[in-house]
Amino acid sequence: MLEIKDLHVELAEEDKAILKGVDLKIEAGKVHAIMGPNGSGKSTLAYVLSGRPGYEVKQGTATLDGTDLLELEPEERAAAGLFQAFQYPVEIPGVGNMTFLRTAVNAQRKARGQEELSAAEFLKEVRAKAKDLEIDAEMLKRPVNVGFSGGEKKRNEILQMAMLEPRMCMLDETDSGLDVDAMKLVATGVNALRDEGRAFMVITHYQRLLDHIKPDVVHIMADGRIVKTGGPELALEVEHNGYADILAEVA
Ligand code: ADP
Ligand code: MG
Ligand code: MG
Repeated sequence: MLEIKDLHVELAEEDKAILKGVDLKIEAGKVHAIMGPNGSGKSTLAYVLSGRPGYEVKQGTATLDGTDLLELEPEERAAAGLFQAFQYPVEIPGVGNMTFLRTAVNAQRKARGQEELSAAEFLKEVRAKAKDLEIDAEMLKRPVNVGFSGGEKKRNEILQMAMLEPRMCMLDETDSGLDVDAMKLVATGVNALRDEGRAFMVITHYQRLLDHIKPDVVHIMADGRIVKTGGPELALEVEHNGYADILAEVA
């Protein structure tokens, strides 16, 4: 589904290399976790795939179902089925959460050749999904993320994901800032979306999220590269020993 080959990325403003040859292949139905020390390039990888400005791809390719992602505008990447839940969700004053979600969902449906949802259908669906994530009806009426707590913002990201039903979901430290109960809600939301036709890239610092979202594959990223790949046991190794042993081993 997602295939990244030898991806090299620099900051556009300065000639600073951030990704230094990332190779990654994620097949449909799989959950891949990406772990690694702060500053190793995890968020950059997700940003470059979703099309955030400010980065320059120097080398390599990234395709989703064979489509060259790097050639597409961000909204075209979303229409192709890519979704990113942000590490730091932004507040959008003046744009109602419900309006935002409905506009996004209908744009997605249009791109897939489906009819728009009626207001009633949309409302029914968004309310049901918000309830599963324990998102208050009041939060749906407020501007996107404005005045939301850190945990509410993260749950709102998962609500967007649940509504959009993307094929390739990237979650960037969705667990950070969440208490254990909120993390379980998020994990339940993610697990409900696990499907043979969908894949996940779960970026996380901590093993604890992976107790609830069981990954098929775990990658360790360091200094702009994936330096080690293994099964769920690799996350446990990190939990027990930190990154030092792995980094020394691959150095
Ligand atoms: P991670 O998510 O693994 O913590 P990031 O992808 O956020 O890592 O960052 C990787 C490296 O790139 C860090 O050294 C970070 O400071 C740098 N970096 C990323 N984006 C920018 C930017 N827009 N301006 C300056 N430095 C950046
Ligand atoms: Mg970081
Ligand atoms: Mg990050």
